[in-house]
Amino acid sequence: MRCSFCDKQAVYFKRISGVAYCKNCFIKHVEDRVRWTINKGKLFDWNDHIVLAVSGGKDSVVMMKIVSKIEKNFPHVKLTAITIDEGFNGYRAEGIKIAKKFSSIFGVEHLIFSFKDFYGYTLKEMVDKAEKRGSPYHPCTYCGVLRRKILNVKSKEIGATKIATAHNLDDEAQTILMNILRGDIERLIESFRIESQECEGFVPRVKPMKYIPEREIALYAYYNGIELYSSECPFSRLSLRGEIRSFLNDYEMRHPDVKFSIVSSFEAFINKIINKENSIKIKLNRCRYCGEPTTRDICRACELLEDLKVL
Ligand code: SF4
Ligand SMILES: [Zn+2]
Ligand SMILES: [Zn+2]
Repeated sequence: MRCSFCDKQAVYFKRISGVAYCKNCFIKHVEDRVRWTINKGKLFDWNDHIVLAVSGGKDSVVMMKIVSKIEKNFPHVKLTAITIDEGFNGYRAEGIKIAKKFSSIFGVEHLIFSFKDFYGYTLKEMVDKAEKRGSPYHPCTYCGVLRRKILNVKSKEIGATKIATAHNLDDEAQTILMNILRGDIERLIESFRIESQECEGFVPRVKPMKYIPEREIALYAYYNGIELYSSECPFSRLSLRGEIRSFLNDYEMRHPDVKFSIVSSFEAFINKIINKENSIKIKLNRCRYCGEPTTRDICRACELLEDLKVL
């Protein structure tokens, strides 16, 4: 098969659009798509201090490569990569090594913050406590909520104005379906509104990779010499996300546009709600324990820590 743009040997065929790409045209396609996402959503300003949440996984390293390339044209933009060390020993240690290496290659300042320093416990220690207490929460709940809190607090401390995370199209479609299947529509809309609107105390979160399918990120990483993790998070197999991922990948074989359709239709729906004249305004309080912004009396992170009796 030949490339649809330059007639060289094609390496990738995009079924959703029926377009074939050679290696160079494919790399350009992925970078153009990220640039388009940034421009369309007005994700960054000319003088932003952007925190790149870099776990060391391929998605976050690819994001760091592409965003640092795009933002070179904006000399007033500052980039800082932050890696959160949850305390998984082998698994995260490998990610930290990769994150350090590529931050240095791409010329991005790199900071590491750990659960142990911030909360006094590693995630593993918290999960062990949760198990003993018969907590109903999955390890990913602690991991996600507590990681987001450190990112927000530390980003504010260094004066950042945006936090960019590397969620891809597959992640986004999975999250929407997961929350629907759990019946947790409120949380889904809440997180979307916080992402979409400026709220005092929250550094706005943006997702420049949200329209790039996971397989394209993997291929982009391969062509750019970005190594993949050889280990896996010990908790990933226990998650509902794994089931949804398999289901969506299977369904996509017959309906190539399913992930994009889920994400774009949900975004259109949310934008309609937010833009309506009487759109719901977010009323933020300060968490009684830590002072972080929250829609409740205590923030979700403190609620989880209180339940573990480690607050
Ligand atoms: S799979 Fe769950 S526990 Fe593991 S890194 Fe991801 S969110 Fe954290
Ligand atoms: Zn080509
Ligand atoms: Zn709190």
